[in-house]
Order: sequence, then C-alpha cells, then structure tokens
Amino acid sequence: MTDLLDLDSTLARMLAALTPLPTVEEPLETAAGCYLAESVRAAQTVPPFDNSAMDGYAVAAEDPELLRSGSLRIAQRIYAGAGPGPALRPGTCARIFTGAPLPAGADAVIAQEEASVTADDRVTFHTRPERGACVRSAGGDVKVGEIIAQAGDVLHPGRLALLIAAGHQRIRVHQRPKVVVLTTGDELRAPGSPLEPGQIHDSNGPMLAALAQQAGATVVRRQRVGDEPEALRLALTAAAKDGDAVICSGGVSVGDADHVRDILAEEGEITFWRLALKPGKPFAFGTLAARPFFGLPGNPVSALVTFLLLVRPGILRLSGARDTTTTRLPAVLLGPVNKRPGRRDFQRGRFRIGADGRLCVEACTRQDSNILSTLTEGNCLIDLPKDSGNLDAGSQVDIVPLFEANG
Ligand code: AMP
Ligand code: MG
Repeated sequence: MTDLLDLDSTLARMLAALTPLPTVEEPLETAAGCYLAESVRAAQTVPPFDNSAMDGYAVAAEDPELLRSGSLRIAQRIYAGAGPGPALRPGTCARIFTGAPLPAGADAVIAQEEASVTADDRVTFHTRPERGACVRSAGGDVKVGEIIAQAGDVLHPGRLALLIAAGHQRIRVHQRPKVVVLTTGDELRAPGSPLEPGQIHDSNGPMLAALAQQAGATVVRRQRVGDEPEALRLALTAAAKDGDAVICSGGVSVGDADHVRDILAEEGEITFWRLALKPGKPFAFGTLAARPFFGLPGNPVSALVTFLLLVRPGILRLSGARDTTTTRLPAVLLGPVNKRPGRRDFQRGRFRIGADGRLCVEACTRQDSNILSTLTEGNCLIDLPKDSGNLDAGSQVDIVPLFEANG
C-alpha cells in the first residue's frame, strides 16, 4: 500500500498542472456562473441618488413647524421612477414612496404607519425623525470606482445583481470548460433500454454529466464505449479533441478489461494513478492531446466521490476560480464507525443539526462502493483521516455535504 498517493498533495499537484481557460467578454446575463477574469470597479454609485426606504413622508428633520406642531402641509407626491420634484419649502413635506428620490431640502422620511392625514393636504406625525432616518443615501451601498469584485470570483446571482446595479453590462470571464463524459464497459446500456443477462444501465454517464454541469462545465458530449481497446482508443482521442477536458468512468483498475490507463499512457501521459483513498483508489489523472483527462473508477459511489474530491476542483481551476476548495463542516459522530488505517475514507453518512445546535452525523450501514442507495440515504461524505482506525460515537469529524439540502 506504500505506493498509494496522498489525496491532498496529489490534488495540489493536479491543480498546479491545470491552467484556467482563455477569457471572453460576455453580457452579464449569459455569464452567470462563470468566474471573473479581472477585478471590477463600480462604474456608478449605488444607489445613484438619495431615496426613500419607506412609503411615507419626506421631511426636513429640523423644520421649525415640524418641531413645534408635529404637523406639516403635503406639498407634492413623489413616486419611484419620477424626478425629485421641487425643493421642500419650510412647513411642508412630500408624500413619498419606496425608491423615490428625495426632494432637495428633505433629509428624513417618516413612515406612513407613523403618520395620520388630518386634512386633504395636512399630515400629523407620531414620531420625531432623526436626520437621515429611512433615507438611503447616494453611494450608501457602493461608491463609483470602488472595487466590487475580484478576479476569480464566481458570478453568482447576488454578484450579478451588484455588478448590474453598479452600471456594468458586459464582463470579462473565463470560458466555461467544455467537457466530454465517457463511460466505458461492455456491460453498459442506455438508460431505460431492455437488458440482456450480464448488462446494467449506464448510471454513471448521466450522474457525471449532471455533476459536471453543477460544477459549471458544459457537457458537449456524453458517450458509452465498450471495453474493446481500439474502439476505446478512438473514443478517447476523439473526446480529447472535442472537449477542454475528458471525464471517463471505468476501465482504470487492474482487471484484464481495464485498458483506459494503457491507452492514456500510449496516446498521452499519466500524471498520477492510485490514491490512498476509499472509495476511489484507482483514480487516474493525465493529459490526452494536451487536454486534462480524469479517469474515474466505474463503481458509481467511487465515481461520485472522486468527482467531488478531484474532478470538481479541476473544473473550478479550468474555470478560473480563485477558490477550489471543497466545503467541509465539523460534525460529531452519532455512532461508532469502522475504519482501517491506511487510506483516507469518505464514508457516506446522514447529517443534521443536533439538539445542541451542532451538526451530528451517522454513517450509512453499508459502505461498499457499488451501493447506489447510500447516495440517497446519505446526504454527506464523512472524511476519515488516513491513519485513523475505528472511531467511537462522540468523535469529531469533518463532513462534505452532498447535493442540495432540500429533499
Ligand atoms: P470498472 O471500474 O470498469 O472495473 O467497473 C467497476 C464496477 O462498476 C463494475 O461493476 C461495473 O459494472 C460498474 N460500472 C462501470 N461503469 C458503470 C456505469 N457507467 N454505470 C454503472 N455502473 C458502472
Ligand atoms: Mg469496466
């Protein structure tokens, strides 16, 4: 087992061997999910003008009549989208609505819940406003010229909204990686098709394509290939021409029908193979026609685990992400866990928030790498250190959440 590679150092090596894809300028709306190629400064101030945070009345907080009588004449109405209207005169206020510009002379807004209209054009207030109350000042969010995003940040929906509010329309981002997903094995048949004895449905293909999409890649092709070496060679070399990266499942282990590694060695280069990882030991990484090649084990759980721990960070790196780390959360084991020292083990488990507010986690009963049902019974991977043996209930572990929390 001494020739098995350590996950963290191998991952670092793999990331160092990958370069972010070229950049393109794109409209923000189509670039959602892409990674910024340059830092961005606000092209305009947000909000661009002083405006009301409430439906209510714009006033001058120090208006002598307001201070004396608590009441003012309503001189104008200002709606969102309108100009700010004429300046406030002493003794008057403006009926105003959320987002509408403050008239000159106004420095506070009193919410309509704090006001009673006493005549057609008069209003009495039940509160004394502080200067600036319920006013959103120009530039209170972002000032023109301020750096609002960094190279390597993802254009998530919130960042997209901020950049648009700050006046941007097009943005320079890294290209989304185009990936080809190959699944290898003579036993594989298309989803839903009738099976002869010995055949199974290709569940890895759709799973890996969905994972790649969630990681921000575009799947340009998904293909099943048998184990015949020449057909495999053709499929692998074609895949490397069509994609920025190839994700391939099966055929990387040590069986007689496992030809993927040989072909990779002949047609390209194997950077590393065999990790001290469970599940996922046979994972291989290399280059084919100068494109990154991820060779995943065929067992579905192993394919999922190696995708999340290695392929996803690789896709993020190609996408230009600054941060490629996999999210880990601390949790307490609810029951004991069996583990043999020697390989880092990512057991499937189910986590939740415990009565004490901390995360707690229970390992799934079956941990074999072919047991697909643990991918829905479980909602996380429990990251068990390489040298650790069995762990008792109450032990502190790290978990990697799987999929979406809802459902
Ligand atoms: P391999 O890595 O090719 O030796 O495959 C290991 C196990 O995973 C075998 O039981 C295969 O039948 C199974 N397997 C391989 N590819 C897939 C796939 N695309 N979908 C589901 N199971 C697969
Ligand atoms: Mg196979």
